[in-house]
Amino acid sequence: MFITSPTERALYTGQIMAKLLKPSALLRVRKVALCLRASDELYRSAGRLDMRFFPLGPDSAAAIAEFNPDLLIAPSQVLLALASAHKLPDLKHLYYGAETLNDTERAFIGDRLGVRPDPIYQATEGFLGAPCRLGTLHLNEDALIIERDPLPGGRFRPIVTDLLRRTQAIVRLRLDDVLEPTTCLCGSARAAVRPVEGRIQDIWRWSDQQVFPRDVENRMAPLIPADHPWVATGHPKGVRLACRKADASRLAEALSVFGQPVEHVEYRADMDFPKRRHVRWLV
Ligand SMILES: [Zn+2]
Repeated sequence: MFITSPTERALYTGQIMAKLLKPSALLRVRKVALCLRASDELYRSAGRLDMRFFPLGPDSAAAIAEFNPDLLIAPSQVLLALASAHKLPDLKHLYYGAETLNDTERAFIGDRLGVRPDPIYQATEGFLGAPCRLGTLHLNEDALIIERDPLPGGRFRPIVTDLLRRTQAIVRLRLDDVLEPTTCLCGSARAAVRPVEGRIQDIWRWSDQQVFPRDVENRMAPLIPADHPWVATGHPKGVRLACRKADASRLAEALSVFGQPVEHVEYRADMDFPKRRHVRWLV
């Protein structure tokens, strides 16, 4: 999907490690597990670290638990599976990317695994954002120019120019992600944003009404245990809610606030594979 060179792979690994870890922690980290959907080509330069790539699949959580990393980067669905059924006794640093994670889920994972999961913003287009010590996501504006294509409510789509990559130019590439500015007290000069809430294509639209994924997520999250699945798909005639039967009436009632008919269907695991998205729009 994209081209890279050994130098850029080393730079990439260096950027990730430098952004995620203080120098003292960097020296202590031994086992790094990466579970991301993107090609693993970027992640194979690691020096003295034991850095392993785990492909996303039904056995990812068990394989990662067996490896027992001290640093783990994985999609939210893998962290939830780990938190539900496994222990990671040596874990010190935990990051999620590629999928949204609401507050209820973040607290559940932090509680079960003993480490707060912090967001990283990683896409095919590169390493776009990293959390500060307070857990707030900051855009990697030391290596990128990120312009803002405005959306309602102060949100925006990022337009990315990479200042370092040479093998493949990334110049003013507009992404589908919905970002929202926030503030952070850590003192970083890099822009603080809330974790990616979804894609442009996921926004619900009925005539002049627009509903953003986080607005749906915030209503649903407190009403359902963090490890119970749900998918709410908006469409021109209403909302289709996929979840377990026991959760359906509570969630459907919460969704009725958007003024559209809600229909329940049984949840299937393949709805969330390869990418888990709680909130979607179907034309
Ligand atoms: Zn910060």
